[in-house]
Amino acid sequence: MLYHNLFDSHIHSVNSADAHHSVMYMAERAQSMGMMGIAITDHADCGRLVEPGYITRILQSIFDVAKAKAAFRHRMTFGVGIEIGVDGNPLAADKLVKSYSFDFVLGAIHGNQEGMCYYNAPYDSNTPEENKALLDSYFKDMQEMVDWGGFDSLAHITYPLRSAARLNVALDLEPHKEQIDAILKGLADQGKALEINTSGLRSPLGELIPPLWILRRFKELGGQHVTIGSDAHRVDQVGSGIQQAMDALNQAGFDYFAFYRTRRPIMLRVV
Ligand SMILES: [Zn+2]
Ligand SMILES: [Zn+2]
Repeated sequence: MLYHNLFDSHIHSVNSADAHHSVMYMAERAQSMGMMGIAITDHADCGRLVEPGYITRILQSIFDVAKAKAAFRHRMTFGVGIEIGVDGNPLAADKLVKSYSFDFVLGAIHGNQEGMCYYNAPYDSNTPEENKALLDSYFKDMQEMVDWGGFDSLAHITYPLRSAARLNVALDLEPHKEQIDAILKGLADQGKALEINTSGLRSPLGELIPPLWILRRFKELGGQHVTIGSDAHRVDQVGSGIQQAMDALNQAGFDYFAFYRTRRPIMLRVV
């Protein structure tokens, strides 16, 4: 099935240290794919992974989106966004979010309070017990982020699974179901969104983040808002996997998904 209401709410421009292409280049690609709009969500990690100069890059990102908005005028919608790695430091995240006028704030956990990065963690040399403890602390930091609640959508909830899959390790979510439930319930109760992140489809994980059962559980627990993002770090990744994400929304019983303007959800039909 082909969908028409396509919106990519998670795109990194060259203003993210790990991404490669300009806002204008990413936007042109999105338009050529027939997308209604995009949100640029460059990185700002607030825990120990904080990178020097990130404030300058965030300001540049905001400015680049304003330029693209002017250049594309009514042909596409743009969101000024940010992806905050809260990483155990909600105080710093709160200060950052309140310092600028964002349309959309993605909340993520990228690292722990000791500065360990979940992207590079040694999943293959860890024992299963160590990997279980690592996921336990990942979800605890995520719960703390949800309790803070200063974001709009929770990014890539099962992020460590993608990194572990690269090392041929399949992490088990079964022991963490209660933690996941509490996070989903917290999102639903506060009217926050859960993100479907399509980057897992482009990785050895080979599935959406989160998997369908988590999306269904979110719906069961009263979740209403879902955002869709490719997490593109280069131009060829813009909009990738969004059709599959729309299929997953359908299968989980969602008739609408959201994008954000001035921190408020705007609902689009899953068509
Ligand atoms: Zn992320
Ligand atoms: Zn991202």
